[in-house]
Order: sequence, then structure tokens, then C-alpha cells
Amino acid sequence: MANPSLLILAGDGIGPEVMDEVKKVISWMGDNRGVTFDVSEDLVGGAAYDKHGVPLADATMDKAQEVDAVLLGAVGGPAYDDLDFSVKPERGLLRLRKEMDLFANLRPAQCFDALSDFSSLKPELVAGLDIMIVRELTSGVYFGEPRGIHIEDNMRVGVNTQRYTEAEIERGARAAFELAMKRDKKLCSMEKANVMESGILWRDVVTEVSADYPQVELSHMYADNGAMQLVRAPKQFDVIYTDNLFGDILSDCAAMLTGSLGMLPSASLGLPMANGRPKAMYEPVHGSAPDITGMGKANPIACILSFAMALRYSFDMGDEATMVENAVEKVLADGARTADLMGPEGGTPISTTQMGDAILAALGAAA
Ligand code: NAD
Repeated sequence: MANPSLLILAGDGIGPEVMDEVKKVISWMGDNRGVTFDVSEDLVGGAAYDKHGVPLADATMDKAQEVDAVLLGAVGGPAYDDLDFSVKPERGLLRLRKEMDLFANLRPAQCFDALSDFSSLKPELVAGLDIMIVRELTSGVYFGEPRGIHIEDNMRVGVNTQRYTEAEIERGARAAFELAMKRDKKLCSMEKANVMESGILWRDVVTEVSADYPQVELSHMYADNGAMQLVRAPKQFDVIYTDNLFGDILSDCAAMLTGSLGMLPSASLGLPMANGRPKAMYEPVHGSAPDITGMGKANPIACILSFAMALRYSFDMGDEATMVENAVEKVLADGARTADLMGPEGGTPISTTQMGDAILAALGAAA
């Protein structure tokens, strides 16, 4: 069988810095676990604009469609802020998501014990927290028509439309149920069925899909209550499935339960390809962090954990994914901290490279 293939799009700002540390983990897997990835690299975002005048070249898009998984760093930066909307770095990212039809966005909110003091909530509320939010990513109010700003009765009116087909709700629901099956078998679906017809349809379709997953305990919650419950008692959740808009907000809210932006991975999955693997892109949640670019301060953990998600969800290498996560847990427990993880008590932060090396050493020690 062909080697699994990966396209690395490191992007802008700290993207290439954190990706360098991921490349070490990829090599480690080849040397120690007998899995050699066919890795190719290309440009996205401002880096692609500088070379091609567009934030994602067609040839890069074609490559992304062919590989088993895309690993993306981050895009954007002040040099590109004044570009026309159509060629802004973020458009490269949106094109990848749209053309690969990545409809299920997986955002884990996991609290490593060593960082439980970092949360804005009391440590006992978040210690051991492990939630997965599945956000529908390709439809809903961010894409619905009609949209725009027009004049009515001499007044400007802004319009966006929340629109979901049952097929769109169903395919995301299946992804969420499948995930719940691999976890604690609990799924909470969140919408606003009390005030939105699309919410009523959402609830109906998710309930229908649940017939195929009798082992999964399904519950429904209004999204506003969901937000309250996330900060009141987050450990009650296992998998949460919600729409594009609510998912955007709820996943950011859940993310902050865990501390730093530098710790948060994500995956965006689409339909299975001919080889059975889903179309997939993995990326840290954070942006290009221009304020710390080139200073060796970036935390590479979010990007490394994104690769761990690739191992689990694209390559069926759950054991290897757990090894990477355990290595991260170990270095944090041993006190290794990049600058973003320094608490009020202070200490000496380690660099991006040192954090990557510490994770490799922990992998080596555990192997
Ligand atoms: P950001 O995520 O880049 O940075 C926010 C803050 O978090 C900064 O202080 C930064 O130093 C810090 N931070 C982020 N990642 C870190 C890491 N790995 N380690 C340590 N500290 C980290 O968000 P922003 O400042 O709002 O945006 C900067 C640029 O990134 C903008 O051009 C924005 O459009 C872009 N952006 C891109 C993505 C993406 O590529 N997915 C996401 C968000 C923002």
C-alpha cells in the first residue's frame, strides 16, 4: 500500500515556526513507528500571495485534493491587511475548506492537569476536561442567501439567512455520532428550536440519525443554555454537535476553558475518498501571531496536537496519537512552559524549538 500522504502548508507568521516542530514529530514516527509519510510542502496565505498574487494557487488546491491530509500552520499578517478582500490570506483557507467540502469542524477542548490553573474557571471544574465540539462548517448563516446590505425606506438594512438542508444537518450529525461512538457515547445537540425553524429541523434530523446509533445517549439543548452550561459545569459534555454560527461561538468559549490559544488543535473533515479516508485538513486554532513572529516564543503544541488528530482521524493510528498527547502531557507535568504558558508566579520560558525537542524526548522515553 502507498505511504500515507501529507501536504504541509505552513503559511505565514509563526506558522512555519510551529510547523518545523511538527516535522520533527513526523520524522520520529518514520524512524520509530515504521510509518513513512510522503510529505510535500507548498504555500498558502500571504506567502502564496507574495509568490503567485493569490492566497492559494490552483496547483496547490489540486494537490490538497489529492493527498490524504493537509496540515496547515496559520495565515495572515499586517503586511496583507490592506489587500483586496478577494486576495486576503484568509481567502486561501476558506477556499481549501470550501473546495474540499470540509463540513465537520472538530474542536477538542481538553484540559491538561498541569494547566488547570490557567483556566478562567476554578481548577476543579476543568481538571480532566475532555470535550469535542463538532461544528457544521460549510452552511448556515455564514453562507445562506439572500445576504447583503440594502436600502429600505431610506434606511440601511443588513441581511443574512440561516439556511440548512436536512442532508447538511445529517452528514454532520453522522460525523458527530461516529465520534461519540469512539468516546464516552454521549452527544448533546445544540440549536435554538424555541425560536428558529432551522433549529426545529436540526433537532428532528439529529433525532432521526440517532436511530442508527442506539448506543449513544442523545440530548438536546438550546444553544444559549449550552453556553451557560459550558462555563457552569463543562465536564457534563462529551461530544457537542451544533451549527456553523453557534459552533463558532461555543467552540471559542470552550477553548478558553483550557487556557492558552497555543494549546488548541482542530480538524476539518469531509466525505470519504476512494481509499476510505475522509478529506481532511488539520490546523491549530491560533492565527499567525505577528506580535511574536521570529522571536522563538510560539508554542508549537497546538500544531503538534493537530498532527495527533491527523494520526487518529485520517490514518487510524490512535495509539500513535495517544503517544503524542501523552508526550505533551508529560512535558507540561515536568514544568516545561513556552512564554504563553507562564503563570503569574513567573519562571523561565523555553523556546519553540526547545518545546518541540522536549516533546520528542518524551516520545523517545515512552517508546
Ligand atoms: P492570533 O491567534 O494570531 O494571536 C492572538 C494572541 O495569541 C497573540 O498575542 C499571539 O501572540 C498569541 N498566540 C497565538 N498563537 C500562539 C502560539 N502558538 N504561541 C504563543 N502565543 C500565541 O490572532 P490575531 O492576533 O487576532 O491575528 C493575527 C493574524 O492571524 C491576523 O492576520 C488574523 O487574520 C490571522 N488569523 C489567522 C487564523 C488562521 O490562520 N487560522 C486564525 C486567526 C487569525
